[in-house]
This record gives sequence, structure tokens and C-alpha cells, in this order.
Amino acid sequence: KVRVRFAPSPTGPLHLGGVRTALYDYLFAKNQGGEFVLRIEDTDTARYVEGAEDYIEEALEWCGIIPDESPKKGGKFAPYRQSERRDIYDRYTEQILKTDYAYIAFDTAEELDAIRAEYETRGDVFSYNNISRNRLKNSLALSDEEVQELLDAKTPYVVRFKMPVDRTLGLVDIIRGNSAVNTNTLDDKVLVKNDGMPTYHFANVIDDHEMEISHVIRGEEWLPSLGLHILLYEAMGWEAPEFAHLSLILKPEGKGKLSKRDGDKFGFPVFPLNFTDPATGNISKGYREEGYLPEAFINMVALLGWSPADDKEILTLEEMTKEFDLHKVHKAGARFSKEKAEWFNHQYIQLKSDEELLNILKESDLNLNTEDEKLLKIIHLMKERATFPKDIYENGKFFFEAPTSYDEKASKKAWNDETSNLLTEFSESLNSLNDFTSENIKQNLHDFAESKGLGMGKVMMPLRLALVGELKGPDVPDILELVGKEESIARISNAVN
Ligand code: GLU
Repeated sequence: KVRVRFAPSPTGPLHLGGVRTALYDYLFAKNQGGEFVLRIEDTDTARYVEGAEDYIEEALEWCGIIPDESPKKGGKFAPYRQSERRDIYDRYTEQILKTDYAYIAFDTAEELDAIRAEYETRGDVFSYNNISRNRLKNSLALSDEEVQELLDAKTPYVVRFKMPVDRTLGLVDIIRGNSAVNTNTLDDKVLVKNDGMPTYHFANVIDDHEMEISHVIRGEEWLPSLGLHILLYEAMGWEAPEFAHLSLILKPEGKGKLSKRDGDKFGFPVFPLNFTDPATGNISKGYREEGYLPEAFINMVALLGWSPADDKEILTLEEMTKEFDLHKVHKAGARFSKEKAEWFNHQYIQLKSDEELLNILKESDLNLNTEDEKLLKIIHLMKERATFPKDIYENGKFFFEAPTSYDEKASKKAWNDETSNLLTEFSESLNSLNDFTSENIKQNLHDFAESKGLGMGKVMMPLRLALVGELKGPDVPDILELVGKEESIARISNAVN
């Protein structure tokens, strides 16, 4: 049975990379008819950020990445918050010490610092492995009596993994293929800290086993830990899951990891939702609040590192689920592009019905103050040019209010000495139109221009300026119809005076 987990640490808001990991976890699990689990890895109390867990849950929900099991939803393997699983870890700590795959170490931070400094002056990097471990204060170097004495005296200690000496481990990764690592390059990592809490490595392996996880899909920053994890499974006598490590999301220029600062620099969010830092009160911008549709957002994220067989670009979550293949996930980093993100949003706006867009606009904080029927027509005319729903309103402001000024450059181009008379006369012809539809208006415009011996553009351009204030917007007859007869005539009269 395929079971995949997303295991974020609540150390801050979920970023783009985290969303992509969660999405691939979900897509793979669902493609295989399996389960998707959310587990919160909160054993590192020093890095815990208030509100981060709620943020993660809300963000996943907004994206439509819904877990089958989670801290809120519960499930067969509850609890799903590591801080609530202490008794499980205690049990396995006892086991790994008894079987001698781990040992107790009493070194204080100061002692370790001193040794580290000593190594550094020699030009070496300190590592608590078999080369150093016998001269340090641990249960491998001390006699049983000494160890017992220290324990009796309640001396703080950590539990460290006893890294085997000079073993070459074969590592298998679904995306990256095979590689190898020699254990001499690996450290005796801490498994349990002196507060009794397990570190990430130990808790993660225990929980993946306990929760019957079949596939671990995570960021490539965890690749260097894979050797240790494989050895931990071995030490515990468990079968290891399969692994897939995802490449980085790169800066828009292509080099280096995308960071929060790039977002500020290039003007795009790196978080799904707004996040208020509880310590500083600073707000990081989110895709949701910037006006991205969740469908567009996850579509964009999904293609950062994966492409479906036929290179199709627009896919719903369901279609992605059907097509997702871990073997087709790219080994190389995926470059983020703001333009591409906007392109996706534009595409998804086109796929929305006018009614759906109306609801989105009504839920926003825009002050529309217009009846639905007219709003629907405005949406219909304006959505083609909109990247964000609010563009429909902002680019169509002239539907809601008369222009208060006229663009200077446009005026020079559109207006001459005869324009006032021309528009006044045209406005009279508009006034006598009974049925004020864009079709009738168009005919009227045509007839008027012809009777004056002018091209349509010669009338249309100043007319647009009078109605809009600049030379943009949809077709002039459409604008006239929606602005309405009375208001159109008023705007013309305003412009000519
Ligand atoms: N808690 C780890 C993180 O925050 C999980 C890594 C993993 O998936 O193993 O990324």
C-alpha cells in the first residue's frame, strides 16, 4: 500500500518549495491509489514559530492538497504531531541503546567547542565519529562504573548513533538513481537531545516506520542524511521506504536557490498565503492575497520540476493526479518565473465563467457598488486582459466613474480644433437612438463617420478619450452601451467643454 507523508517543521510559513513537496507527495500518493499523510515535526522547540502549523494546514487547504490523515483530522496512526509522541520515541531509544547501535554521550557544549577549536587550529573539521569518539566523554570511552556514576548524578547526556567504520552504503533514489557513501565521512549524529526529545533524524525514521510510510518524497537538502537514515532503519531492524529527493527551485536568473529576498527583489510572493511573523509583526506576502487563483497556483508549482508526457501546460489537480510520474520529475533545478506564474493566472481567469469571477470580485475588498447585471457585462468585456481578478475592476474603472482627467499624450493625438463640434454632433445622434445597444451604436457610428466623409477611427479615438480618459479599453460601442446613454452624453459634453 502506498503511503506518503508531508512532514513540515513549524518553523515558519510554508514556502514555494514546501508547497511543491506537499503537492508531489499528494500527487504520487493519489496516483498510486494510496494515502497522503500530514505530520508535524515539532521536536525542535527552539525553532518553533507560533501559528506556523495553522498556517501550513490553511495553505494546503487553499491549494486543495487535502491530507487523509493529519493532526486535525486524526487517523489510524495518531497523534500526528511529534511533540505528542514522546512515549513512542522513549521506547525506541531504549531499544537502540540496548542493541548497541547507539551510545550515551555526556560532553558539554563547552567541551565540544574546545575540541572543535583544537581541530580547527590543525586545519581539520571536527566530527564525533570513530576517529574522535574514544577520547570524548561517552559510554564507549568510559567504564560502565563511570557511566553509571554520571547517570546517577543526573548529568545531562545525549544519545548518539554509532556510525559503523568504513562501510560503503549504496543509496537508491527514484529521481537521482544510484549513488554511494562511505560511513567514514558521516558523523555520530545525535538521536536524542539532552531534553529527552529526539532529533529530526530519529523521530522521522521512527514515525515513517510506525506510520507505514512507503515512499519518502522530500527536498534535496535531506539527501546528505539519507545514509544515516538507511543505517537507522537497519539498526532498528526495519525495512526502509523508497526515497525521492526533489531538486531546488531556482532564482529567476537560474542560479542559486530561490529565497525570500528574491521575492522582494522581483516583486512576487514566495509563500502561498500572507504570513504575519509573530516576533516582528512583519507580513510576508502570499499568492492568495495577491490575487492568484489556487488552481493556477498549484498548476504553476506542479510544473516546477515535472512535465506531463504530452507537455500539456494547463492541468487540473485531477488531471495532474492521473498523469503524475515520479520518474519524470527532473533531476535539474527548476527555475521560477514570475511571468509564467502570471501567465497561469491569466489562463485560469479565462477558464472561469463570468458568474464565478463575479463572486470572486464580490468577495474581495473592492468597492463595486454596481448591480450584478452590469458587473457581469464588464467582466465579460474585461477578463480577456486580466491577470488578476482585480484587474477587471482596475482596468475598467471608467465603467464605474467618469474620467477626471484626460491623458495628455492621448489628447494631443486624438483631439484637434474640429473635434468638439464633431463630438457634439455625434452625441446628438446618440441621443436620438432608441435602442442603446452596441450593435445599434456601431451602425450609428459608421453612418455618422460616413456622412462626415471621415474614417471611423477619426470619430472613435476622441470618443474613447472622452469616455475613458485615455486611449485604451474594449471596443467603443461596447463601452458606450455599458456606460449608458445618459452618462455617455454627459461625458462627451464634459470633454468638449
Ligand atoms: N521536518 C523535515 C522538514 O522540515 C522533514 C524532512 C523529510 O521529509 O524527511 O523538511
